[in-house]
Amino acid sequence: MKYIPIIGMEVHVELKTHSKMFCACKNDADETQANTNICPVCTGQPGTLPVPNKQAIEWTVLIGKALGCTIRDLSKFDRKHYFYPDLPKAYQISQYDEPIAEHGTIHLEFLLEDNIHPNADIGITRAHLEEDTAKLSHNDNNTTHVDFNRSGIPLVEIVTDPDFKTATEAKLYCQELRTLLRFLDVSDADMEKGHMRCEANISLQEAGRFEIINGEVRPLGDYTLNAKVELKNLNSFKAVERGIQYEIDRQTTMLENNEIWKQQTRGWDETKNETVLQREKENAADYRYFPEPDIPPFHPLTIATNISLPELPQATRMRFHTEYGLSYADAQLLTQDKQWRDFCEQVMTEIIEWIHSLPESKESSDDISHHTKHKIAQLAGGWITSKLMGMMNERRMNIHDIPFSPENFAELITLIYSERVNSTNAQKILADMLDSKTDIDPTHIMEEKGYGQVRDEETLHSIVDDVIKNYPVQVEQFKFGKDTIIKFLIGMAMKASEGSADPTIVERLLREKLK
Ligand SMILES: [Zn+2]
Repeated sequence: MKYIPIIGMEVHVELKTHSKMFCACKNDADETQANTNICPVCTGQPGTLPVPNKQAIEWTVLIGKALGCTIRDLSKFDRKHYFYPDLPKAYQISQYDEPIAEHGTIHLEFLLEDNIHPNADIGITRAHLEEDTAKLSHNDNNTTHVDFNRSGIPLVEIVTDPDFKTATEAKLYCQELRTLLRFLDVSDADMEKGHMRCEANISLQEAGRFEIINGEVRPLGDYTLNAKVELKNLNSFKAVERGIQYEIDRQTTMLENNEIWKQQTRGWDETKNETVLQREKENAADYRYFPEPDIPPFHPLTIATNISLPELPQATRMRFHTEYGLSYADAQLLTQDKQWRDFCEQVMTEIIEWIHSLPESKESSDDISHHTKHKIAQLAGGWITSKLMGMMNERRMNIHDIPFSPENFAELITLIYSERVNSTNAQKILADMLDSKTDIDPTHIMEEKGYGQVRDEETLHSIVDDVIKNYPVQVEQFKFGKDTIIKFLIGMAMKASEGSADPTIVERLLREKLK
């Protein structure tokens, strides 16, 4: 490959603090009535004073730590000057040379069918805190309205080093960042709602003629770097991938035709499926940054004393893999957000409790119980990611719509595992559980609808007799008063009947015969 794509990402994230960044106005992203959550501070009235939001600083520290950043001992706010109708002060309070967090790294793992590299370590240049601008809406009758509800919402800008080599890597980074922000519970990170806004910097350089030092692309020898293109309007993960790929292809063609271009900003046009020129930069914008005189410099770590880093998505994924034996793909699906992670975690906890209540796990070595645990966890993982998620897709449901508890889902898995119900009937039960308005017990559905149960006592008599004959040791233990062993014997009868026997009748017959 003659040209190497050099891609860096800039992501803006709205924090879901209760109040805005520098005033007490409500930070409510769902407010539909324009200009209701406003005050003199966030509408930029002269003479007002900004008071920084403590929680926003704490959360930026938290994000920085989660991204492996160094947290600066001393940080400050700066004024970034520019005029635009959504910014009545004619400056934005941001951070210039002393951001709260810097020099981090994020590790990404890719599925090989998706990307040419198996993994990548992406440098995080910085994460800093600033205020969001107001929102302009351009109307059909040639007028523009300004809504100040968004003005002053805390915004964290996360900038990466130019470490991405493919469009897929950049998309996966944005997805990973969304998962991380949701795990930290600091933002809803919904791209469609503008909680998370992604921009890419893309340039193509000749292989072997440049180096990247401290996140900066530098030419080698007499090579002149090709100008970078700033790509905006990437409003979905799909747009991130398609927009960047389009730019890579466009710049490749230009280079092959010996064309050069100026540094420029382009926007992704979703309907035309192409990037369009927005403006060319003659020289770098001069924002005339200077320290915000109304807010003294601060020590982020002295402010953020109460924060602790929760288990991060990658660690959870690894744990789901090692502890439960889930495949990497399943683990990834189950850690896409906190709700699925918690659902999966609760299902697994119930299942493990169930395994420990089985007499066979007490009798056998830890290895076998570990093996059993993996086997049933994999079964549960597979049922969640393929069957449950698939049925939910058909019904256009999301995790908040699931009417049943993780306990009852776990119970369904134990029914399948102990072969009390076969896969076909289990899917019918799951469909009933999903379509119900309440949390129904799968055993109840199974019994009520008679999914494959044998209640004919004559057949069951002979199965029970065989079990008693085949497991004399356990039968002895039961007779000596170890009542829990009955579950094992029932389990063996279920197995012998290929899951079709009625366990209640089996238990009654066993107890009668072993009296
Ligand atoms: Zn306000």
